[in-house]
Amino acid sequence: MNDTKKPGLYVHIPFCRSKCPYCGFYSVPSTSLVPRWLEALQKEIIHYKDRFDRFDSLYLGGGTPTCLDVGSLRKIMETLFDHFDFAADTEMTIEANPGDLSEENIIALKDIGFNRISLGVQAFDDRTLSFLGRTHTALEAEKALKNLRSFGFENIGLDLIYGYEGQTVKAWKNTLEKALSFQPEHLSCYELTFEKRTLFSRWKEKGIIKPLTEKELSTLFPTTSEFLQDHGYIHYEISNFAREMTYASRHNQKYWRHIPYLGLGPSAHSFQDSTRWWNVRSIRAYCKALESGEAPIEEHESLTKEQFILESISLGSRTREGFDLNEIPPDTLSTENLSKLQDAGFIRIQDNRVIPTQTGFLMADHLPLLLV
Ligand code: SF4
Repeated sequence: MNDTKKPGLYVHIPFCRSKCPYCGFYSVPSTSLVPRWLEALQKEIIHYKDRFDRFDSLYLGGGTPTCLDVGSLRKIMETLFDHFDFAADTEMTIEANPGDLSEENIIALKDIGFNRISLGVQAFDDRTLSFLGRTHTALEAEKALKNLRSFGFENIGLDLIYGYEGQTVKAWKNTLEKALSFQPEHLSCYELTFEKRTLFSRWKEKGIIKPLTEKELSTLFPTTSEFLQDHGYIHYEISNFAREMTYASRHNQKYWRHIPYLGLGPSAHSFQDSTRWWNVRSIRAYCKALESGEAPIEEHESLTKEQFILESISLGSRTREGFDLNEIPPDTLSTENLSKLQDAGFIRIQDNRVIPTQTGFLMADHLPLLLV
């Protein structure tokens, strides 16, 4: 585990090759605005240049960062390094799509300075990939994973999706097994959700697509956790598993621990001194604001002490660290409910921390409500 309290830096690359029907992240399936957006991003970097201490994590996400050409990625990194201070051991992650990882590109990503890859594999069979609207094939994913290793990437994370219609426990276990054959340092297993404004949510409303039942889903989650733990992975956050805690995403832990972070790019969120702010979503609105010398902020909120504490409970309930009872003022939590949840096996209390069990993870969204 990395106990650093240094801030993290996120850059949202809002471009994709095509839009996956389940995806609620802000991105557009065209790169025509890249040159204008790059100029605007440089302005935003300069705007924040003296506002944060030395970063020790950098995360290029999106969208699909690897749909930018290598020259653009290099330019972004150079500008970040020119204007911000980074620790020598900074975790530098780039999200990548398997179809973009030619040998040449992998070599370039390493040369630019990335030391961690988060690969959007999602599934290892072409039928599922096509259902999910992915543009890569299973073979491309396998090839990318092999090449990343052979070109020296020692910290590889894989994203997988489970919980779609027709998926059996056996098929999901086969996917996990296949993923483990590449010995990734990190795995993120996300349940398919039906986010507003996505094609899948519209299909769900029209009955074209049927989500799995609660019962079916409640089998897949423990299956994932048990299977990966049996293979030596640490289940350190609801959807995240690491081969060792040194491979737990340093960057994402900042979100769960109220450590400051700066988010650049359309729709990116930032947090500092109990204040959270987020950028406008539209690329055009983002560029327009920066071109007129303004920050592209849509809104901000300052957390009261009470909100901060409630958030700590709710964020902690999603991780194996839980939350520290010493940081929660007396009378915030119901002692009666604490012991009930403990007796029911949803939480345990260790070293004065409330820690969700695997069953507790299953209801992490509700735990905070039951605790206060
Ligand atoms: S899932 Fe990834 S590749 Fe697909 S649209 Fe969303 S950001 Fe783009």
